[in-house]
Amino acid sequence: MSTLIQGGTVVPGTGDTVIANGVVVLRHGRVADVLTRWDPVQEFAGETIDAAGCVVMPGLINCHAHGVSPGPLFPSAAARLAEQAWMGNLDRHLLAGTTTVLNLCGFAGMDEVREADRRHAVHVRGATSHLPAALQAAQFADGRGLTARTRALTVERMIDDGAVAIGELGGGQTLGGGGQDLVYIPAAIEKLTGVRVEIGQARRLKEAVLGRFIDASAFDAEALDTAAYEAGLSGRLTMDELRTVIEDSVLPSFVPAITGIREGVLAASRLGVPAIVHSASATARILRDLMAETRGNGVQVIAAHVNHPSHSPAEALELAVLGRGNGWPAEASVFDLLHRRHTVTTRDHWDLLLGEPGLVSVLATDYGRDGEHDELIAAVQDVAAQGHRPLAGAVAMATSAVADLIPGIAPQSGRLQAGRAADVVVAGAEDFRDVRYVFVDGICVVREGKLTAEAHR
Ligand SMILES: [Zn+2]
Repeated sequence: MSTLIQGGTVVPGTGDTVIANGVVVLRHGRVADVLTRWDPVQEFAGETIDAAGCVVMPGLINCHAHGVSPGPLFPSAAARLAEQAWMGNLDRHLLAGTTTVLNLCGFAGMDEVREADRRHAVHVRGATSHLPAALQAAQFADGRGLTARTRALTVERMIDDGAVAIGELGGGQTLGGGGQDLVYIPAAIEKLTGVRVEIGQARRLKEAVLGRFIDASAFDAEALDTAAYEAGLSGRLTMDELRTVIEDSVLPSFVPAITGIREGVLAASRLGVPAIVHSASATARILRDLMAETRGNGVQVIAAHVNHPSHSPAEALELAVLGRGNGWPAEASVFDLLHRRHTVTTRDHWDLLLGEPGLVSVLATDYGRDGEHDELIAAVQDVAAQGHRPLAGAVAMATSAVADLIPGIAPQSGRLQAGRAADVVVAGAEDFRDVRYVFVDGICVVREGKLTAEAHR
């Protein structure tokens, strides 16, 4: 099967090239050629796609995805998603031009990762967080997705079985972060009082009890009183009860989750695979410690979601700069800060970190409410539109830079170059979210903005 894509702006993902009015030829599942022009009298035996008004780039590689397999969800090993939900998440990735995802729900087994990979056109890769303390943290925070089989797995067995990274080490659910504010604190309060508090109310209650850095000595009785009043909880329970319910929700998983980050980074240096750590205010201290402890030992640690809004923008910048000084590459997650803005309503961290030359290496999404995060391709466009990187560099941050950073994630993809896998996206140049065509291994899986029959298997 051969395809000729012509007339679009070709961004090959190499970081330095843009070909106006370029040509990409796909043959037998591979990129056969990338050309600056196609002789109009030359015959082509295959389908021709008119990409006028479009950008043509490699299929995007998202190294921070959740909810893309039938395994346990998140670092808290929450209940598994129904098939239509995880397949639906993969549909959303594909319809937005992402052709490879790394499942950072590290308690999934490789059987579950392979099932997702086999059933959906998106390449699904696996990561592992099967570490004793990380498992304990998951069980304290949630753990409903675990089975005897997943509990018995180890990072060594997972890597032997094809996992490409260790992670996600730590997460909002186990570290008193957004996952607590969104799910676990509201559930615990509702169980006791019948009142359902909103995410922002839960966060203010938590910060009154434990501060921003999850520390019991930060308790502020006056702030708790105010937050309880705002959340409609006054008179429903005593302030001591409210403090206890929040501490009991947040603290049990916190210490093992921090220990789990250390276990994972040590395992990464032992096993020679990258570790991916959750980089938020709650983990700032352990990450600083680990930077000092592992300096010069060659371990590859990727700081994920360095623009996490639990930091102030200045704190996020300081930690990422420190990481860079220690050789830790930074990943910025778009979450929903560009368009949907359900959870993250500021772009200050994003712009501050991306505006720093060479600080952020790769872009990803993380997981917005029910998988409704902004598209990785929107992040690519934004980085270019804001002038943080030239277009070629912005595309590289979600393609070749990711493939280079995590060697097993997509060794054949990430660049439009002869001989590489024919994972290609054709998207409207005005708004990249207007994805017209996606090819995976040369097969058209999105056509005129809709999934084809080949998207599911
Ligand atoms: Zn995550």
